[in-house]
Amino acid sequence: MKSKPKFETIAIKSTENKFSDSAPVSTPIYLSSTYKRNNDGTYMNDFVYSRTNNPNRAIVEESIAILEKGKHAYAFSSGMAAVSAVFQSLKTGDHILLPDDIYFAVRKLMTEVFKRWDLSCDFVDMTDYELVKKAIKPNTSLIWVESPSNPQLKLSDISAIAEIAHQNNALCAVDNTWMTPVFQNPLALGADIVVHSTTKYFGGHSDVIGGCVVVNNDEIAEKIKNIQILSGAVPAPFDCWLIGRGIQTLYLRVKKQSKNALKLAKYLEKHPKVEKVLYPGLKSHPQHLLAKKQQKKGFGAMISVLIKGNEKETINISTKLKYFTIATSLGGVESLVEHRKSLEGKDSLTPENLLRISVGIEHIDDLIADWENALSISN
Ligand SMILES: *Cc1c(COP(=O)(O)O)cnc(C)c1O
Repeated sequence: MKSKPKFETIAIKSTENKFSDSAPVSTPIYLSSTYKRNNDGTYMNDFVYSRTNNPNRAIVEESIAILEKGKHAYAFSSGMAAVSAVFQSLKTGDHILLPDDIYFAVRKLMTEVFKRWDLSCDFVDMTDYELVKKAIKPNTSLIWVESPSNPQLKLSDISAIAEIAHQNNALCAVDNTWMTPVFQNPLALGADIVVHSTTKYFGGHSDVIGGCVVVNNDEIAEKIKNIQILSGAVPAPFDCWLIGRGIQTLYLRVKKQSKNALKLAKYLEKHPKVEKVLYPGLKSHPQHLLAKKQQKKGFGAMISVLIKGNEKETINISTKLKYFTIATSLGGVESLVEHRKSLEGKDSLTPENLLRISVGIEHIDDLIADWENALSISN
């Protein structure tokens, strides 16, 4: 065969069973903590002890590495464990630049945990590259990017930020959870590290917590692998199995979710009770052109909507929705809605009239009708 396999094909092929003699098509779940050693001290293959590696994890890591166009991937028991592993790979005294709009637990991890380890940080508006350059210090070793950011969907030009990082001997890490490798491959754009919460689109069914770090550079890979194995925040074989199964339908799900999201965003933008819709696929998004360049196959399925009203009126609208479950998280097949500020707590920088929407795979007509109804009966 001359042509290279495409995303959908890789997603199926890279997660097939490779380990059993009896060749079941679906990979069995290897619930073994340890693996037999031969009399001469050797092992049948790479598997020694399940914290170090196991078949279900190996499949997921190999699959995510290929899909993210990376050489190495390391799976973790949560997205936050994956983020921690990247921070743990730095040395004390290092300085990190993070986006001002960022997944709030990453902000807290940095300011409440890693500060005690003598890592310092600054939060900057990463849509402004001059500000990023100015914020760099001699000890800046990492620039952390979220594009789109959570929850205000600000974009950063990943190539530009990676270039700034490299000119200053720093690394560029991208949290690619919201985009998935279907829409955006940060390593191909020049980033050094990609992080995922596989809880979201990879799992895709709101039934598993997981994370992953993907890198090309062998030296960084070795550090992350060491932290994975020695710190031990590894995913269980069953969790890996669920994520592997999710990967098989990732492409279909996110393409549909993204299509739904664009239609819903366009509808919401025209509604008189809506102040503003934050979605990179809209022409009104300040970085729509960058979105078209960077997010090649779609704009993702996360929307933030600012309601004309106060906190109470905003929350009230979310309670009127029938097909959008009020819950945190994102990326599952079912649509979710969340009043982000009240979840983030008192330090939250999120506007009180913002609802964050994770668009699912339901029929778009039902989703739009649901919002039409909720917006008409509130107040
Ligand atoms: C959910 C999320 C995380 C954290 O992942 P967990 O799996 O919940 O630990 C990190 N970054 C982003 C962008 C997320 O959405």
